[in-house]
Amino acid sequence: MDNYLEDVAGIKECVQHPSKSVIIAHRNPDGDAIGSAIGLKLFLDSKGHTVSVVFPSEYPVAFEFLPHANEILITDIEPDEVSKVIKAADLIWCLDFNALDRIDKTGEMVNESKAGKILIDHHLDPEPFADLMISHTPASSTCELVFDVIAEGWGIDSITREVGTALMVGILTDTGSFSYAVSEVLFKKVSHLFVIGVDYLHLQDKIFNSMELKHVELLGHCLANRMEVYEDKQVGIIHLSKDDYKTFNIQRGDTEGIVNQLLRIKSVKIAVFVTEQPKIVKFSFRSKGDISVADICRNHFNGGGHKNAAGGYMHSSLKDALNKVKSVLLD
Ligand code: 5GP
Ligand code: MN
Repeated sequence: MDNYLEDVAGIKECVQHPSKSVIIAHRNPDGDAIGSAIGLKLFLDSKGHTVSVVFPSEYPVAFEFLPHANEILITDIEPDEVSKVIKAADLIWCLDFNALDRIDKTGEMVNESKAGKILIDHHLDPEPFADLMISHTPASSTCELVFDVIAEGWGIDSITREVGTALMVGILTDTGSFSYAVSEVLFKKVSHLFVIGVDYLHLQDKIFNSMELKHVELLGHCLANRMEVYEDKQVGIIHLSKDDYKTFNIQRGDTEGIVNQLLRIKSVKIAVFVTEQPKIVKFSFRSKGDISVADICRNHFNGGGHKNAAGGYMHSSLKDALNKVKSVLLD
């Protein structure tokens, strides 16, 4: 067993002195980012800390039901307030990302801060910017690692139902409802969350059965008009243009999960979702089995991520971006 929890002793030491904590997760926060941030906030609140949660950009509305979600500071919306809380922080917790460039200008504020920095994350190759680090790529989610940190440092009974509910959110979303990245130890932890009363079915419903009609219509458009499948190359691609964003009034979170639809096709082993954003073209990659889309993104698309779920971007036209994807995957 690798000793990825070695730094918990140092973390416990930090938490023993109540202070101003800021919890930061990555840009375009997903269920794991928000679940781990809120779970940790609830725990630190109970230890007498004053805790602010900061995200570089907005989170999907499906997670608004979590406690304190409406108090989260968004750098895109309130940069001055974010700068103020980061300047005043004694401790900065970095959750679910491995490098300060994943949090854009919030990263510059963190870099300038003299606060103690703690990283809790499950992505490959963390940059060494933190004083204390819990980095473990076999973990399903950062939520699972926050569970580990609390259980190791303060005992499993310190995970209350409220904390456990937030952590279950990221476990559910980062494993696609227990479809991948699962392990025997994860199921043991999840079993404990059941025992303490976390309402799994309620969460499942809140998170996955919350699509609006326009989401289903957008999915229909993607599958009918924007999908290209190259069965001989085991590749599927869906793209959305700026015009599609206007036509379907696409907001944050609206495109979540579209890329996974490609993997439902038996012959598709690599799925790519390409979106034309205001300043960049963004890529979302997924794969089956041993194919590492993290390597592909690192080598060709200014990005990275996990073996089976990765992403990147290009400063180019949508057409050039699609040609690049095809030249990398089909030639
Ligand atoms: P998604 O496709 O859901 O946006 O991202 C899947 C995973 O890919 C993320 O959890 C993250 O690890 C990685 N990822 C997405 N975009 C980028 C990027 O621009 N740079 C890097 N390094 N990783 C990314
Ligand atoms: Mn995650």
